[in-house]
Amino acid sequence: MKKFLISLIAVLLIIIVYFLMNKSPREIDTLLINGNIYTCDSKNSIVDAIAIQGTMIVGVGKSDKLSEVFFARQVIDLKGKTVLPGLVDGHAHILGEGGKLENLDLSGTTSTEQIVMMVAERIKNSKKGDWILGRGWDQNSWQIKEFPKKEILDKVSSDNPVFLRRVDGHAAWANTKALQLAGIDASTKDTSGGKIVRDKNGTPTGILVDNAIEFVNKIIPPLSNEDIERRLVLAMNECASLGLTEVHDMGVDEKTIQIYKKLIDEGRCPIRIYAAIDYPGDTWNQFLKSGPLIAYKDGMLTVRAVKLYMDGALGSRGAAFFEEYTDDPGNRGLTLMSEKEMETVCRNALEKGFQVCTHAIGDRANSITLDIYGKAIALKKDRQNQERWRVEHVQVLSPNDIQRFKKLNVLPSMQPTHATSDMEWAENRIGPDRIHGAYAWRSILNTGAEIISGSDFPVESVNPFYGLYSAVTRQDQNGVPQGGWYPEQKMSRVEALNSFTRWAAYGAFQENSKGTIETGKWADFTIIDRDIIRCNENEIYSTKVEMTIVGGKIVYKK
Ligand SMILES: [Zn+2]
Repeated sequence: MKKFLISLIAVLLIIIVYFLMNKSPREIDTLLINGNIYTCDSKNSIVDAIAIQGTMIVGVGKSDKLSEVFFARQVIDLKGKTVLPGLVDGHAHILGEGGKLENLDLSGTTSTEQIVMMVAERIKNSKKGDWILGRGWDQNSWQIKEFPKKEILDKVSSDNPVFLRRVDGHAAWANTKALQLAGIDASTKDTSGGKIVRDKNGTPTGILVDNAIEFVNKIIPPLSNEDIERRLVLAMNECASLGLTEVHDMGVDEKTIQIYKKLIDEGRCPIRIYAAIDYPGDTWNQFLKSGPLIAYKDGMLTVRAVKLYMDGALGSRGAAFFEEYTDDPGNRGLTLMSEKEMETVCRNALEKGFQVCTHAIGDRANSITLDIYGKAIALKKDRQNQERWRVEHVQVLSPNDIQRFKKLNVLPSMQPTHATSDMEWAENRIGPDRIHGAYAWRSILNTGAEIISGSDFPVESVNPFYGLYSAVTRQDQNGVPQGGWYPEQKMSRVEALNSFTRWAAYGAFQENSKGTIETGKWADFTIIDRDIIRCNENEIYSTKVEMTIVGGKIVYKK
């Protein structure tokens, strides 16, 4: 009898332990329940709960099921709110945005008078000799759609050098003081890939285009480490507050990379950074020796790309075309890099495992870039573009080049808001034929290629919902033009969302850790106040972010 009892107790104990091991919920950090969650997985599934442990997603599915399986220290009831995979901006400039937040922000200005008033105001609060810097003017938004002159600024700024970049960064407006300090006068020769705009007597007017901007740029006192740190934090916090969880930072140097690392070590970096090194420069030469930096500190920073420039921009007529500008006969734009030089960079990048990201706007610049990529990629035996080289902007393509992206496995990285910002004047620049290859998202998607979407901030707003709205409507925020500008090129809402999540993650080699809401991926989410897949189209751009989560950590909360 005693023996029987001992056996019975042993069996009961085993059953209890077995029961506990299987039935006791697993302890985790956070459970998000009752959400409207777009996973962006291969089936575009919608679920209502996510389980998070540490920096990772450990479960995705139904709220009641996950509540049984997991015991969470923190439960967040989403009350039906929409959750997206953490949004990614596939092309932007963090330090530039920080500068925009600190310097004069001229975006949206409608006249030179307005700008002069802003400059005068800033000078009142500055010391004699201080540089007055700003960015964002666009002569296309003025009544007189011409480049402005230095004299307009001179009236209020005889003692302070003033230097104001155009919205696209590809032209700048200087006052006389700034030109004097830079030693620019009638005798100064144009630099290659740049232009000093002059009046009919050869006197510089105050406008510098593309590489000529460097004449002044190089004499502006450099930013201190503290300046850079402050600006990066300022811009990254803005990104987090607008729902971004990662930015592809296009063009960084060693100093900036070191400061990113410091901020990550100190826990002050709210979002992930995927950085492309600015070419040319010492940073690129150093990284060619050391090789890429991949997934520093739980994937907060990756440096495995190099950023090249093939041409300028459309607004300042610096983009390189096969034929002349429709509104500027004789001008075909500028290429900023020789083919031979680019071939060398591509060979080096291929050897060391770097992704090449090349800025190309005009049809000629895109064509040359694809030619050189094709040649370099063919050097590899498997002829696959495993380096996932990218063309940045892809703004105007000649018809023959549209299918080459898919064929060469080259990724198009495009900015939906550029289309809706440029649509008023783009056709004046390139005429009624070439415009069909401009911002041609649908034509590219139809070839089977996937688009990485971004904003190119500070050129455009950081807000990714502006980009999603532009992508699906091709309208400005007043709904103009009706039906959309060349509406046959629109993206669907799901495509637009994929381009800011899954496809952007692929463009950063992160498809196994980011871009969708699936078990085993980083816990990066954007929680918003409306259902952008089902709401009225014209409500997409006013979406407000409720919460941004990066690596399981809440980095922004409304
Ligand atoms: Zn850019």
